[in-house]
Amino acid sequence: MEKRDELYRGKAKTVYHTDDSDKLILLFRNDTSAFDGEKIEQLDRKGEVNNKFNHFIMTKLEEAGIATQVESLLSDTESLVKKLDMIPVECVVRNVAAGSLVRRLGVEEGQLLNPPVFEFFLKNDALHDPMVNDYHIESFGWATAAQVARMKELTFAVNDVLKALFDQGGMILVDYKLEFGVDSAGNIVLGDEFTPDGCRLWDKETRKKMDKDRFRQGLGSVVETYIEVAERLGLKL
Ligand code: ADP
Ligand code: UDP
Repeated sequence: MEKRDELYRGKAKTVYHTDDSDKLILLFRNDTSAFDGEKIEQLDRKGEVNNKFNHFIMTKLEEAGIATQVESLLSDTESLVKKLDMIPVECVVRNVAAGSLVRRLGVEEGQLLNPPVFEFFLKNDALHDPMVNDYHIESFGWATAAQVARMKELTFAVNDVLKALFDQGGMILVDYKLEFGVDSAGNIVLGDEFTPDGCRLWDKETRKKMDKDRFRQGLGSVVETYIEVAERLGLKL
């Protein structure tokens, strides 16, 4: 597999073409950003930890029958993935109230959400990723009604698999963000990443925050805690 020119440099990853037009390389960098890129820091080893963590989780999801971008781990910080035509929305599921939901609705952090809440956000940094609904997505042509339905179905399927997985490791999956794309055959496939950068995880007993809130809130030991999450799931880093 030959790495070719850069396709896109995001806030935390760089995407490269390869000699196979259906495959891309994702390079996980140490860059860590929050508040729409207002706070940016380099955290030692974060690229490696997130690359391996993402590969581990996506492989678990594949094993559970969910179509993902996963191909193979190429190096400490690089993964080979299926090239997807990304749909520019973020799919968020919340099992427990936290983050922007608490700020927006004035509800108490930690409140159990039954049924879990589903939200769409438009991927647009300049507009601070505004919340959108199914009608916006269909009317503006970001995805079809069938694709919207499939993204919801798959995001909830991920919830069933990962809630159980994190529970076994003594953690609560509070909320998470997924991004989907369309593969060359027209299927909706899970892309981007699933790492502690894009979800909230709390220790079941102590409620210790074990995700990017450690960085957002300046709690320290960010990468060390991501490694602890991985180890609790049986992934040695
Ligand atoms: P951002 O764009 O939010 O700053 P990243 O730094 O994570 O985010 O950049 C990764 C970019 O690569 C994102 O825009 C994401 O949509 C895109 N991407 C992720 N997985 C794939 C894939 N399998 N195929 C094509 N593009 C992808
Ligand atoms: N999230 C993300 N990228 C974003 C926005 C949110 O990965 O651009 C994740 C975030 O880490 C959390 C969930 O989606 O696990 C819900 O985020 P929320 O809407 O509460 O926003 P936040 O307060 O985290 O900015």
